[in-house]
Amino acid sequence: MSDCLFCEIIQGTLPANKVLDETDILAFLDIRPIHAGHTLVVLKKHTENLLTTSAEDLRTLVSVLPKLCQAIQKAMAADGINVGINSGQSAGQIVPHLHLHIIPRRASAGARHWERGEYADGESAKTAEAIRQALKNLP
Ligand code: AMP
Ligand code: ZN
Repeated sequence: MSDCLFCEIIQGTLPANKVLDETDILAFLDIRPIHAGHTLVVLKKHTENLLTTSAEDLRTLVSVLPKLCQAIQKAMAADGINVGINSGQSAGQIVPHLHLHIIPRRASAGARHWERGEYADGESAKTAEAIRQALKNLP
């Protein structure tokens, strides 16, 4: 896509510090890292988010995770790794080209946790049922 930031990086018209360049996949450093070594992984084919990407393309995207995570953990002397996808604006997606974040973590920096809630009585069972029904009704 012509007006997509990550497509421009893939096409080479916008510079990036690339760490992995394969037939279908590109990985490059995030320009504003949460921690040094924060890497983004993208499919070279433009797809916007999780809901617009096929299972096959998702498999291709995550297939590089084992070796890339090992390399990043080693190179950054990290203790752990977060892998995340922000899918949709409400989930914090700013660049509308599906990407994985790989963020190396060190114990010394302290782990960050999401704030957690609680289900009201019966709400958890109802929620699981709603998701099961939605799964059944998918094409
Ligand atoms: P998201 O909020 O999941 O859409 O994340 C988009 C990420 O892209 C952010 O972490 C940005 O720092 C990163 N980013 C934006 N522009 C560039 C760029 N030109 N090169 C590398 N990373 C970028
Ligand atoms: Zn794109």
